[in-house]
Amino acid sequence: MHELAIAESVVSTVLERTGGRVSVVRLRVGRMSGVVPDALVFCFELAAAGTALAGATLEIEEQAGLAHCRDCDTDFSMRDAFLLCDCGSADVELLSGRELQVTSVEVV
Ligand SMILES: [Zn+2]
Repeated sequence: MHELAIAESVVSTVLERTGGRVSVVRLRVGRMSGVVPDALVFCFELAAAGTALAGATLEIEEQAGLAHCRDCDTDFSMRDAFLLCDCGSADVELLSGRELQVTSVEVV
């Protein structure tokens, strides 16, 4: 499962950096990253169980996708996973929305 692998790497990174005395981990997840936030929260609990992070909360901040159309030279926010501008062009560059980063942790 995709989310479990991500959760495991978040847990091990936070443990490495903090030693585990953490109550909240905040993660920014782009809508285009393919990650399902609810599944990630569930997997985080599984991955944290039995480690110093057990009982810590994962808070997810969703980041909307933003793209730039090279044809009509406009930026637009993405409603779904399709890289298609309203002008009909698919010559589109994804500016944001694939983020997957720990933004902060709250230390106990
Ligand atoms: Zn366009």
